[in-house]
Amino acid sequence: MPRKTRVEHQEPTGGYRELNEEDPEAWPLLVAFDLDYTLWDLWIDTHISPPVKRKGDVLNQLVDRRGQNLSFYREVPSILAELKRRRIHIAAASRTSAPELAREALSLLLLASEEGGDHVRAITYFNTMEIYPGSKLKHFKEIHRKTGIPYDQMLFFDDEHRNYEVESLGVTMQLVPPNGTDRKLWNDGLTLWRKRRGIKVVHDNR
Ligand SMILES: [Mg+2]
Repeated sequence: MPRKTRVEHQEPTGGYRELNEEDPEAWPLLVAFDLDYTLWDLWIDTHISPPVKRKGDVLNQLVDRRGQNLSFYREVPSILAELKRRRIHIAAASRTSAPELAREALSLLLLASEEGGDHVRAITYFNTMEIYPGSKLKHFKEIHRKTGIPYDQMLFFDDEHRNYEVESLGVTMQLVPPNGTDRKLWNDGLTLWRKRRGIKVVHDNR
């Protein structure tokens, strides 16, 4: 079935506010990611047979009992590192029916450190994790309850159209295409979030 995409024609009613790219208000306070087909290219509860293991200190790769590999999409580690550098709260919101396995995978998966030095476990990037089956409205209500961050300060990446329901809370959702999350999509999501807030980033070259 072809995936639906949303096209936004509406301009913000109050017009745009111009902000410098380094203005903290030009960035959402929280970015949330689904896991399956958003950060990695499989359903962890279907395609992965525990236990998962890592060979030595190999980066961004785990292997399961049957030899199936599990990795983040190639550009995901640099996106997570950028969010951390910008002190943006990072959340995981997944409705997988294998929450323990998902957490185990995140804690085993090793990523290169952007600042040099030791490698970092993927799980350390996530400030909040809501991983359990059910409507994502519940996941986002929990994220909001735990962090106090307003919904309109949240940008969410997810590959499933049905999860647009979280926009009823005020969250901005960017639909993830079949090739997963990459830097271009991160920029698309950010642009969409800024447009909804009536924010236009200007590059000051003076
Ligand atoms: Mg998914």
